[in-house]
Amino acid sequence: MCEQGQPSLFQTIKSIRYNRCPVCMATLMAPECRLNSDDERAVYALHNNDPHDSGYRRFLSRLTGPLEARVPTGSRGLDFGCGPGPALATMLEEAGMVMSLYDPYFYPDTTPLERQYDFVTCTEVVEHLHQPAQVFRQLDDLIKPGGWLGIMTCFQTEDSRFANWHYRRDPTHVVFYRQSTLQWLADQYRWTLEVPAKDVALFQKLKT
Ligand SMILES: [Zn+2]
Repeated sequence: MCEQGQPSLFQTIKSIRYNRCPVCMATLMAPECRLNSDDERAVYALHNNDPHDSGYRRFLSRLTGPLEARVPTGSRGLDFGCGPGPALATMLEEAGMVMSLYDPYFYPDTTPLERQYDFVTCTEVVEHLHQPAQVFRQLDDLIKPGGWLGIMTCFQTEDSRFANWHYRRDPTHVVFYRQSTLQWLADQYRWTLEVPAKDVALFQKLKT
């Protein structure tokens, strides 16, 4: 994740090896244990991102609520890794934001990546990243000074629960972040970090 630590074996669960980085405390599935992109895509297509599903909207509101409280109406946002049904962008548009979409599988046009935004959202994405450090650099570039980055991912907590954790069992989840991992990231980029709700990280980039 941080490209600074030397990850070493953390746990092996049903022949899948997970490593832990001693610097940022990220837990990473060993690269040779990961799915190929065709198999990954098949799993993603099963994710339920229906914009009309009230349970899913309630789930996403843990991020959209705090974001709307900090970002003025009319701000421009990018939903990075929006998936097949852009529920989050729909909700933010309903709140008066101007949204762009990018997803390597479902919205692969990279034109939206050529500008900067008042905020970027990234929900249920960062746990899938095979090159997380590279993507966080890209996210930093996409955000204007003073802008916001909203991330949703299940934070990894007690190590004793890792093996049976539902989040760990999704074969496309390859990186797990502790809150301290997200703080490490904030310190690295000189962002501030707030955790306004469970499993929600809201970063603000410095104004200058
Ligand atoms: Zn690390």
